[in-house]
Amino acid sequence: MRKLPLVSLTALVLAGCAASSATTEATPAVEATPVAALPYAPVIPKGTGIFAEASTLPFQAPDFSKIKESDYEPAIEQGIAIQLAEVDAIANNPEAPTFDNTIVAYEKSGQMLNRVYYVFGALTSANTNDNLDAIDGRTAPKLAAMRDSITLNPKFFQRVKTLYDNRATLNLDADQLQVLTLTYNNMVHNGALLDDAAKEQLKSINGELSSLQTEFGQKLTKGTKDGALVVTDKRKLAGLDAASIAAAEKAAADRGLPKGSYVVSLQNTTQQPLLPSMTDRGARQALFDKSWNRSEGGDANDTRPLILKIAALRARKAKLLGAGNYAEFQLYDQMAQTPAKAIGFLEQMLPALAAAQQRDANEINAMIKAEGGKFTVTPADWDFYAEKLRKKKFALDANEVKPYLEITNVLENGVFYAANQLYGLTFKKRTDIPVYHPDVTVYTVYDHDGSELALFYFDPWKRDNKSGGAWMSNFVDQSGLLGTKPVIFNVSNYTKPAPGQPALVTWDDANTMFHEFGHALHGMLSNQRYPSIAGTNTARDFVEFPSQFNENWMTDPKVLANFAKHYKTGAPMPAALVAKLKKASTFNQGYALGEAVTAALLDLKWHTLGADANVTDVNAFENKALASLGLHVDKVPPRYRTSYFRHIWSNGYASAYYAYSWTEMLNHDAFAWFEANGGMTRANGQRFRDMVLSRGHSREYADMYRDWAGRDPSIEPMLKARGLK
Ligand SMILES: [Zn+2]
Repeated sequence: MRKLPLVSLTALVLAGCAASSATTEATPAVEATPVAALPYAPVIPKGTGIFAEASTLPFQAPDFSKIKESDYEPAIEQGIAIQLAEVDAIANNPEAPTFDNTIVAYEKSGQMLNRVYYVFGALTSANTNDNLDAIDGRTAPKLAAMRDSITLNPKFFQRVKTLYDNRATLNLDADQLQVLTLTYNNMVHNGALLDDAAKEQLKSINGELSSLQTEFGQKLTKGTKDGALVVTDKRKLAGLDAASIAAAEKAAADRGLPKGSYVVSLQNTTQQPLLPSMTDRGARQALFDKSWNRSEGGDANDTRPLILKIAALRARKAKLLGAGNYAEFQLYDQMAQTPAKAIGFLEQMLPALAAAQQRDANEINAMIKAEGGKFTVTPADWDFYAEKLRKKKFALDANEVKPYLEITNVLENGVFYAANQLYGLTFKKRTDIPVYHPDVTVYTVYDHDGSELALFYFDPWKRDNKSGGAWMSNFVDQSGLLGTKPVIFNVSNYTKPAPGQPALVTWDDANTMFHEFGHALHGMLSNQRYPSIAGTNTARDFVEFPSQFNENWMTDPKVLANFAKHYKTGAPMPAALVAKLKKASTFNQGYALGEAVTAALLDLKWHTLGADANVTDVNAFENKALASLGLHVDKVPPRYRTSYFRHIWSNGYASAYYAYSWTEMLNHDAFAWFEANGGMTRANGQRFRDMVLSRGHSREYADMYRDWAGRDPSIEPMLKARGLK
């Protein structure tokens, strides 16, 4: 996963929807100086403190030896005031708009805010505390208000529009035309062309949506907590390991339940992590039912009334902005561009998925029968038997694999080695750059000609004050215009070894390292003038492509041989073990891909409703939508049911859940291109770097891909890699 809180604020400004009409609060007193270079006298406040100027450390790396917690809030407030003043100065310039005095000036605006917010955002995810969280709570609405104020600034928009309408006569190069077009489109998309009455309507819809989405998130969190399975007969937990039982006992005590009670908490997905181990069939069904019905109890946590309101408001919003439905409105700047394209892509997979699901169900049913069971597989049983089958077929033991995966070895001789073979990069650890936590290591990244390319921070270990998962982001963006080189970090949550023990990671962890470093490469190899189109500032259905693609190199024989060595003996990982790991990766894909594709189609069904659709029954709509797919949804339900689909109702992934599968298609198709063209060579890497990884959003994604691959991406390599063909 990649977190997206830190895309350049320039991009955020444009991507942010006009969620509130609130004005910014009083800005702190800062020294004001007129800008002499302009023919009029706009007053731009001058920042103070450590974030007022670029850091003087190499690569403008944040100086964590000097930054204090008390620096953030005033710097964010000053940064907001400065950016607003900068945009006002652009908007009120009496000279006719030019690309330089409008678009370039805008690209250069907000640098202090970027400096502080990139660091602050990194820490609230990777190393937070109550104080930072409180600052986040206070400053987030101010940032949202700033975005609205810029997006809906009529004078600023008029200048952008004048340039856009005259773009053919401006003599712009391709990058300039792209930045102008994206700036214009994004403002229009957020309502800049609407008349005042419609703008008011939009603001009101946005405000209402924002509260409803927040309310959905809160109800779901509560419903998920309250939906936990409570067990008073320990035998129901048969099959669970001692740690899971102890955790269930503690969860019950934490909730004040009497001794002898056990609480199995719910995760956000339909399937639950303990189901594969639970041997009591009735208990499995009870846990599954809790999961499936968590938000449909008809009580205060029932999310269905909210969903009907959100879906209807989104459809109204789309109509107001001239789109046929909300998915059309959302997808305009994605690689897929239209809902029809996204739906068509997903539907292409249905026949192969249906066949795989039936095949896997048959295999599971045969196992049940052989064990004397008098039933056929249900969703509540699926993971339990799939796990049994996996063990029977592959006999994989994680402890057999880990000794070959010492973390520094995986990083330096695996991840870095692959980047060297493909892109000519070399890496040197350095200890002179201050870090925000002693676990963080820093490397200088050198290009193939020996020049300095980027700075890379690696923060691997789980901490209590770190968000879950793994992600990449920037401290500094690459930009020719600003003269900055990328400063990038990867954060993850691997289990830290006990003192004195070797730092071994799992096969999945190693895969995550390649994944996150794929994002890092997308940032490091960026070669753009304008920051708003640089690096990973790309669409949801593109940004996970370079990261997923980079995972492929982990099992390249040359790479694997270079890093997968026993930490004690140096012996290479046995070939039979490697073969088993590779083969296991195609197991159970009718379920794994099926539940994701089903969820993605459910998302798009909801968001292709027109403004006059008038859906009144969430379950009836869902049942009809699922039945229309021709999949075995009675055995393989969606990864998220409508009523607990947080991604689409409160997390900004409305109409975009397909992006996970879409980027996977790009990944496998791209890797197939490499395989057909000589595999891992410097020439192939350089070509990919020049035509894709360095290009940010300087071109439309589909054109970029077609030029590189010589064809459009196809779904076949993905189905093959998933073992579905
Ligand atoms: Zn990712």
